Amino acid sequence: MSEPQVSQALVPMDVAGRSERVRAAAAEAECDALLVANLVNVRYLTGFTGSAGLVWLGADELVLVTDRRYAEQAESETNRAGVEIRIEITNDAPKEILAAAATGAGRIGLEAASVSWATQRQYAEWFSAELVPTTGVVEQSRQIKDDGELDRMAKAAAIADAALAEVRPMLADGPSEKEVALSLDTAFRRRGAETSAFTTIVAAGPNAALPHIRPTERPIGSGELVIVDMGAVVDGYRSDMTRTMAVGEPDHEAKRVFETVRDAQQLGVEQVAPGTPISDVDKACRNRIEADGWGDAFVHGTGHGVGLDIHEQPWVRATATEPLEVGQVITVEPGIYLPGFCGARVEDTVVVTEDGARRLTHSPKTLAVA
Ligand code: ZN
Ligand code: ZN
Repeated sequence: MSEPQVSQALVPMDVAGRSERVRAAAAEAECDALLVANLVNVRYLTGFTGSAGLVWLGADELVLVTDRRYAEQAESETNRAGVEIRIEITNDAPKEILAAAATGAGRIGLEAASVSWATQRQYAEWFSAELVPTTGVVEQSRQIKDDGELDRMAKAAAIADAALAEVRPMLADGPSEKEVALSLDTAFRRRGAETSAFTTIVAAGPNAALPHIRPTERPIGSGELVIVDMGAVVDGYRSDMTRTMAVGEPDHEAKRVFETVRDAQQLGVEQVAPGTPISDVDKACRNRIEADGWGDAFVHGTGHGVGLDIHEQPWVRATATEPLEVGQVITVEPGIYLPGFCGARVEDTVVVTEDGARRLTHSPKTLAVA
């Protein structure tokens, strides 16, 4: 295969600097230490990608606890990330390790969304300190991407653009939704992506009216709108893009649905700038769709943050009145869904920059497949 591969030369990330920021956020939540159980947050803080691990973020130390399967990997990945960390390997419950680390801590923050009831009860026995439920302490810091993170996301987006350019003409051959999705997934991998960022969505005709349907065996018919929602992963970082296409000429109303969504999406992206309330992006998209009479058919939020997770903070919706910040990466993805008939969605991944916004996804927004 001679497809261009994603460059191995990735811009370095400042992984080591993340602990300090998260420590400050934990202090703001009045915690002396944070016990990190969410594996994506573990990766963010340490570079460790194993499937089992806990991070203790104390006042002046960082500890990664994992089991023997990951002893070597933990060492090499945290080294490569340039993170100063103590690694503890145990195949038993890490009671002694954590209790010793917690000496002197008065309040320990737990990640409320990642700790089960059973685990919380266990911790209550292990620790004499007060346990504090926290939300979004690490996620808050993850919102602002450094140049290394943006480089990975841009490469993931470029892979998706190239994959769609390759697969797009195939739609004219009447393939099933599943066949198109498989071709995209394969094209991602051949270009050097680790994997797809999520289950690739290919939804045509009436299926396109179901925003998150999985691809089916149904062949794509002439004149139908086809929603393709896809992303790739490069070194853990994800891209997210949706395009709506059609084989042949869709009927008049379907075409108007598409044009409204495309224009609404453009208006939303134009709102993206530092200091602008996030809700303004949602409002710009929604106003346009409402003006064309399809307000009730735009059934989801306008977008979300992207990074190590496909859906992360911030959420782009009417209630998000906080201002956009430089370094945030969000999607803008309005849609119209008309049950039994058709659907359209257009989505770009956009970085908030000093002077406004920069799109990472560049595939053309035209209906024609070739
Ligand atoms: Zn998407
Ligand atoms: Zn999305």
